[in-house]
Amino acid sequence: MGFFNKTKLNRLRQKTFIPPEGVGPVCPHCERPVDGMFTQQVAMPMGKAWVYFCRRCSKVLGVSHRKGFWMG
Ligand SMILES: [Zn+2]
Repeated sequence: MGFFNKTKLNRLRQKTFIPPEGVGPVCPHCERPVDGMFTQQVAMPMGKAWVYFCRRCSKVLGVSHRKGFWMG
């Protein structure tokens, strides 16, 4: 548990900045602004996971196993 808290603390210690107007995340595939994502639940060998993908080009931006954990 101590190790977990330490890594969490280190992560929070990183500097974060609020982007200026007009700056936001960009899809690495189609290079268009990410103004929202599609998400879909998929069955994985380890259980269910959530896949997030670009609304414009449908390429996968990330996978999370956590949504089920947090949202029940
Ligand atoms: Zn895209």
